[in-house]
Amino acid sequence: MSSAAAKRYDVAVIGAGMAGMAAALFAAERGLSCIQIGSGGGILFASGLLDVLAVHPVAEHRLWHSPFDALAVLAREQPGHPLARVDVASIRTAVETFVAALNSAGLAYAPLGDRNSHVITSIGTVKTSFGVPLRMVAGVQALQERLPCLLVDFRGLREFSARQIVETLAGDWPGLRHQRIDFPGFEAVPEVYAAHLARALESRETRERTMALIKPLLGDARVVGVPALLGLGRSSEVHAAVEAGLGLPVFEIPTMPTSVPGLRLLGALEAVVSARGIVRRQQNSVRALTFEGSTATLELQGLTRGECIEARAVVLATGRFSGRGLTADRQSVRESLLGLPVQQPAAREDWHQSHFLAPAGHAINRAGLRTDEAWRPLAATGKPAWGNLFAIGSILADQDWMREKCGSGLAIATAWAAIRQVSQQLHETEAL
Ligand SMILES: Cc1cc2nc3c(=O)[nH]c(=O)nc-3n(C[C@H](O)[C@H](O)[C@H](O)COP(=O)(O)OP(=O)(O)OC[C@H]3O[C@@H](n4cnc5c(N)ncnc54)[C@H](O)[C@@H]3O)c2cc1C
Repeated sequence: MSSAAAKRYDVAVIGAGMAGMAAALFAAERGLSCIQIGSGGGILFASGLLDVLAVHPVAEHRLWHSPFDALAVLAREQPGHPLARVDVASIRTAVETFVAALNSAGLAYAPLGDRNSHVITSIGTVKTSFGVPLRMVAGVQALQERLPCLLVDFRGLREFSARQIVETLAGDWPGLRHQRIDFPGFEAVPEVYAAHLARALESRETRERTMALIKPLLGDARVVGVPALLGLGRSSEVHAAVEAGLGLPVFEIPTMPTSVPGLRLLGALEAVVSARGIVRRQQNSVRALTFEGSTATLELQGLTRGECIEARAVVLATGRFSGRGLTADRQSVRESLLGLPVQQPAAREDWHQSHFLAPAGHAINRAGLRTDEAWRPLAATGKPAWGNLFAIGSILADQDWMREKCGSGLAIATAWAAIRQVSQQLHETEAL
């Protein structure tokens, strides 16, 4: 029954990780009223790179130049994979829409083509990804063409070593050099953090002092790489100023989590959904969820007494173990909020392979919710648990986003497909 004090929305999105953010964005784009509950999820730990699909099959670690070719093969070979259940054209549209929204919030990405790019990581490995922040693009070209390149890092910066990157890559890239400098104003500090340095570089004076230290080291370099700390909210301005000051293209290399690109991504997504009128409750979590007829009622932790939230549809984007959407004890894996059935190995001893680095990955990393064609999670009967509950993102079964390098693609594509279903369903109900 509808409560007089209830705030009512077309859709409530539970979770504010990549999947929840994408669902809120797509709901707004379809004109649905939407409330989103939850905090930033895994986005804070993300590198800013948007993976769509780079590896398939996992056991062979086959890397793909085109994520769209990989998706087409995945659809044939693994039809139960959530990404195989969204047509490739829709995945492309979803990712383009998502990136356009980020661009509109000032977080610029390189134009999306058809191919994955190779990006240098903070440990000197090369990561294959699709959506590349503009701040990292010059590094893609430098790596591809093995341009004479100077990598600069800062004394005391945790978990980032330009020397290590050079040692790993220089065998195949003779023009790659490194230098370490003190960050102006932090000379006496034994340990410095990327986010602090990023903020400091938003000051023109600090920038100029930093560039004055780098300039004499340039030598024959045609491009300069730095840890990802070229500004936080004002990164385009800082990046442009540093490139102009050094007279060379400059690129960022993502640092270990929590990284500045992760902070920027979270900030941009928060701006994107807020600007589109999504009501956000990032300090709350959903404690209970009940369904009666076509109405879902959400009980929030920490909500003002007497306030109540109702929605015509609910999108569950609560993630896996780190997001708290799934909980594991010694016997089994449970879905945390509603106790929905979780597809999982029959016995605890089947969760992991005996070898931790087994190429095929571990069965536990494919555990999750199964849904029908309309993205509604299944009850034990094999039928949708509720007609207006949908599930998206990493809580879904039959995918291993970390090994397949498809984290953002999975989140964005399933959000797109589920919100399309929600929209259709709500319009059909209205037409009755
Ligand atoms: C270390 C790391 C590195 C990454 N690197 C990359 C990368 O390089 N490229 C890439 O594409 N992606 C990367 N990702 C991001 C990854 O794509 C996404 O985190 C992943 O797809 C999962 O997203 P999700 O939204 O499904 O779940 P999560 O990010 O886990 O979000 C779940 C959300 O649900 C919320 N929640 C759970 N229960 C409740 C409740 N009861 N009420 C309210 N809210 C609730 C949580 O607070 C959280 O906000 C990385 C992530 C991590 C952790």
